[in-house]
Amino acid sequence: MAIRNIVTLGDEVLTKKCRPVEKFDERLHALVEDLFDTLYESGGAGLAAPQVGVLRRVAVIDIDENPIELVNPEIIFTEGSQTGAEGCLSNPGKYGIVTRPQKVTVKAQDRFGEWHEYTGEDLLARAFCHETEHLDGKMFMELVSEWIDIEED
Ligand code: ZN
Repeated sequence: MAIRNIVTLGDEVLTKKCRPVEKFDERLHALVEDLFDTLYESGGAGLAAPQVGVLRRVAVIDIDENPIELVNPEIIFTEGSQTGAEGCLSNPGKYGIVTRPQKVTVKAQDRFGEWHEYTGEDLLARAFCHETEHLDGKMFMELVSEWIDIEED
C-alpha cells in the first residue's frame, strides 16, 4: 500500500477516457488500496484512478466512514436534483456550485469482479457522478455555474 501523487489540472491524463478493468488481479488490488490510502491522506470524499495517472475505470469513495470501491462503474438510475458546492482533489482549494441528481444508483464491480449496486443521496449521489465522470475524462469545472470561496481548515 502506498500514497500516490495526485495529478492536477493541466495534466492531460485527466482528459482521457479510461479503459475497462478486465483483470481482477494483485495489481488491481494494489491500485484500489493505494487509491484509498491516497484519499484518506488527502481528506477528500472520492478519488478516481486517472487522478493518480492510471487510465483504468476504477474509483473509490468514502463518505461517513463508508468505503465504496467502484470498478467499471455505470450509473443506472438518477432522480431529482440538488445544487451545491463541489470540489476536486485535482483542482485543490477551488469550489464551485454544481447541480447534480439528488439520488443516484450505480452498478460496479469490486476488486474481485463481483457486481454490486449502490444507491446514494446528497453528497454520495454527487460523488458517484463526479468520480464516474473522471473515468470519461470529464471534470466538474465544465458544470460549475458559479465559483465560491470556502474556508479550509
Ligand atoms: Zn475530482
